[in-house]
Amino acid sequence: MLQDQQILRIPGPSPIPPSVQRAMSQPMIGHRGQETSAMLQTISSKLKKVLGTSQDVLILTGSGTSGLEAAVVNIVQPNEEVLILISGAFGERFAKICDAYSIKTHQIDVEWGQAINPQDVKKYLKDHPEIKTVFSTYCETSTGILNPIKEISEAVHEASEALFVVDGVSCVGGVETKMDDWGIDVMVTGSQKAFMLPAGLAFIAVSEKAWNKIKTNSRPRFYFDLVKYKDNILKDTTPFTPALSLIFGLEQVLNLMEKEGLDLVYKRHQLMMNMTRAAFKALDIPLLTSDEFASPTVTAVQPNDFNSEDFRKVLKKQFGLTVAGGQQHLSGKIFRIGHMGYCSPADVLQTISAIEIGLNLVGRKTELGKGTAAAQKIYLEQGVIV
Ligand SMILES: *Cc1c(COP(=O)(O)O)cnc(C)c1O
Repeated sequence: MLQDQQILRIPGPSPIPPSVQRAMSQPMIGHRGQETSAMLQTISSKLKKVLGTSQDVLILTGSGTSGLEAAVVNIVQPNEEVLILISGAFGERFAKICDAYSIKTHQIDVEWGQAINPQDVKKYLKDHPEIKTVFSTYCETSTGILNPIKEISEAVHEASEALFVVDGVSCVGGVETKMDDWGIDVMVTGSQKAFMLPAGLAFIAVSEKAWNKIKTNSRPRFYFDLVKYKDNILKDTTPFTPALSLIFGLEQVLNLMEKEGLDLVYKRHQLMMNMTRAAFKALDIPLLTSDEFASPTVTAVQPNDFNSEDFRKVLKKQFGLTVAGGQQHLSGKIFRIGHMGYCSPADVLQTISAIEIGLNLVGRKTELGKGTAAAQKIYLEQGVIV
């Protein structure tokens, strides 16, 4: 097998475009100089479009979870109660962060593979006026669910005065995100998923209403104090040394997104989801999620007649193709295919046809080409560029 070819089809980290890789290898520059300021200025206006906000997008050095923790420590005041909407492992992460700060949490838990129901959120908030902040994941990476975040946001604001904080780490940049229009108060995302970069940057944008709360919040914080980031970005700089190599890469990522056109980026992700789902349906292998709440960035598959761990090993050995396993209680029960960021419909066809071979190798007799044909058909129906 070709040793240095990696076909990385996991929901993050995701492959890096060659031009982004090259951009990241530029020589180091001074972070307080004019070049860095100019770069941050260019990046700033483009990032706002990706998050769908007119607010400044703050850039932290850290993996996605640093952004989640920053949201918690800036937004939640001491003695305040919060509601966490949990549809999988990343909803739980918000709860664990709150636990670490001894914040009292209320939780709405749905079965893994289901989406959060906005009506349940509305009812819960009406019954619990003490709740001041609501946390939710947008794409729940552990199950491949895209929560109806606009509707949940409406429910939060209709039922309460609470702020709404969203973890968009595994989908912003790949699915439409309208932070301002949808009334999201804090939007967090990260670099290694749909943003086509290595891990190491977290992006966070904050509504006017949320800023008012942050400024008066007495909870201690230092590196994660968003006020410092806000004060600095107004002067086109950062409070601490930014991860400049990643910022070089980010500038190029945003160029690529702009050249393709954000609407077409979102369409491509939708298409890759439809192709992937059609393939598994044609192969008669169950999907974990319904079509209605499926994420355009990751698809979870729940086989009932072969072992998903053996299957993953075969794909890795034969093709250098990595798909992800399940998390926690779904470990060994599902596998997950990432189709986000630097991933095209052609990559999806490659993945599906390799999967058909893998299925036969683990003894799951499968007619070759059946899933690939279903994906090809979707491309002809929905993907053709005219
Ligand atoms: C990947 C991911 C994160 C962040 O994880 P890190 O390992 O800290 O980058 C957070 N939320 C979701 C939904 C994710 O998919």
